[in-house]
Amino acid sequence: APAPPPARHLFSDPAEVEALRRNLLAWYDRCKRDLPWRALAATEPDADRRGYAVWVSEIMLQQTQVATVIDYYARWMQKWPTLQALAQASLEEVNELWAGLGYYSRGKRLQEAARKVVSELAGRIPRTAEDLQKLLPGVGRYTAGAIASISYGQATGVVDGNVIRVLCRLRCVGADSSSPGVIDWLWDMANVLVDRSRPGDFNQALMELGATVCVPKSPLCGECPVKQHCQAWRRKLFGKAPPVPDVEDCGLGDCPLCPPATEPWDSSLGVTNFPRKAAKKPPRAMRTATCVLERRGCHRAPEYLIVQRSSSGLLAGLWEFPSVPLAQDLQEEKEKEELADHLQAWTGRPVAAKALQFIGEVIHIFSHIHQTYVVYSLHLDGDVTLDPALSPSRWVTEDEFHASAVSTAMKKV
Ligand code: SF4
Repeated sequence: APAPPPARHLFSDPAEVEALRRNLLAWYDRCKRDLPWRALAATEPDADRRGYAVWVSEIMLQQTQVATVIDYYARWMQKWPTLQALAQASLEEVNELWAGLGYYSRGKRLQEAARKVVSELAGRIPRTAEDLQKLLPGVGRYTAGAIASISYGQATGVVDGNVIRVLCRLRCVGADSSSPGVIDWLWDMANVLVDRSRPGDFNQALMELGATVCVPKSPLCGECPVKQHCQAWRRKLFGKAPPVPDVEDCGLGDCPLCPPATEPWDSSLGVTNFPRKAAKKPPRAMRTATCVLERRGCHRAPEYLIVQRSSSGLLAGLWEFPSVPLAQDLQEEKEKEELADHLQAWTGRPVAAKALQFIGEVIHIFSHIHQTYVVYSLHLDGDVTLDPALSPSRWVTEDEFHASAVSTAMKKV
């Protein structure tokens, strides 16, 4: 087995751990943001309702800013205040409420998990992080730890992006923070640190610190409640991390948590030397031709054709204008021909490529895809019979379009 990292990267002094917990919790009690799920977690007497309230918030907060989540959360909890209510919802309703929040599979899996709790676990949410992760689809290690500590008081740590940043700075961890070995060490640290009597508050405090003080670009170290425990801060002040020598000296080059010897501490970066990540793969470029197909509905009001995507993969089950993926570097004429062929399948009648009017391009960045929609429009005369053998499709007014389960990318289109 590889040698463990030197003690200075870990939290090995019980007195320091105790002081850090005390300082962080005192700050949290003074400064924490007032968030709706926190109020529910603190006041809801029913354990399953409490677990559900935290669970929904944690799933929504994955990859999404707090400010965006607040409104979605309020509408969700109003519509489905209990797990039982959510279990009875349709996927269409879930997608409609989720529209605009991104990463749509989260809503779908939340609902699947709710159904599982109701049908297989007698409506009782598992109480420990281990069981939550094992039994609930879409609940990973982080979410399980958050639900178990915040709702049920289990003394278990959590590691998310904010916690990674704070821990890497507190302990000068400069090795690639996305590597499995480093992540394991960070989980160990989080489990050592978590306060035994207030685990949920402690975990939220650590995340809150990362979100509001120990922020990625310009951390507010002067206001930080744990700066006296922070090795990156001391190193910035004194040029070194006392009481041991420079990071580069640690373990003589084979420390699993130090920066690689080729990328030593850069004094111009200060504490933002940490964390470090291996360079991300650039997103894949994709082009899709999409057509806003318009007809005159009753009272001559314009209506638009939307079709449903398949129930798996990117944007599963969401609605969109008829779209077809394109090879890169196609000539415009060729793009139009491909789109016209595709539209013919929907409309059941020949569509002339030259009738398609080019409107413009819309770029949307998914986490791993740089997507360009090449947008065309086409006005249809007369009635069109939609083929029920194809994916579900329907004509909608502009208002109905906005109320449907459509992605942000399609709204941009
Ligand atoms: Fe982060 Fe600065 Fe606090 Fe260290 S002192 S934990 S770098 S805000």
